[in-house]
Amino acid sequence: MGLETARARLLESLSHEISDKRVLAALASVPRELFIPSDYCHSAYDDVPLSIGFGQTISQPFIVALMTQTLGLKGSEKVLEIGTGSGYQAAILAELAKQVVTVERIPQLVESARRTLEMLGYTNVEIHTAENVLGWPAGAPYDAVIVTAGAPRIPDALVEQLTPGGRLVIPVGSRWEQELIKVTRRKRRNLIENLGGCRFVPLIGEDAWEQ
Ligand code: SAH
Repeated sequence: MGLETARARLLESLSHEISDKRVLAALASVPRELFIPSDYCHSAYDDVPLSIGFGQTISQPFIVALMTQTLGLKGSEKVLEIGTGSGYQAAILAELAKQVVTVERIPQLVESARRTLEMLGYTNVEIHTAENVLGWPAGAPYDAVIVTAGAPRIPDALVEQLTPGGRLVIPVGSRWEQELIKVTRRKRRNLIENLGGCRFVPLIGEDAWEQ
């Protein structure tokens, strides 16, 4: 099967589970094959995570779509991503929001994601090498924060980087399996919703897992 056919099939199958048309359009327009090692190019539109080296993975398209839809982006937002990896999720966000800030702790991934995103012409994405504090407080506040690695708990440091009413989507659980959690920042008590099970590589850092 050619990549175009595989892409159309994937989009057809996602359209049964994802209702936000803008999210589906973003997945249809970002070439996932350019974010993965060329050896797996033929699998670019299989609905599976794929290795991107350094023990890390590009997430399954369904999870990318679900997490993105959960952020409720309309086009005017400033969004923070923790865990740039290949840069694929950042490209999807760049299609749907005004400005994207993304941080990654592995310098080689920062470099390759930067190259891919520049080649594709994205001018609204900033990539930073992660520092000790989770996220990128210098750019805060963000209307939406997405964490693409699994955390042991909801990190206060990230909730603090949200605007009032801002949304955080984060996998929370053990090192091996997590629940996808949505936190909406509110004046008094934050709203916490569980979107179901998932599996991510661990979030490493001060308020997360040890390496
Ligand atoms: N969103 C990526 C997939 C990311 S995999 C994509 O679309 O390809 C998770 C990434 O999180 C890994 O690259 C890992 O190095 C990174 N990571 C783990 N802990 C981190 C931290 N504290 N800050 C920034 N990045 C982190």
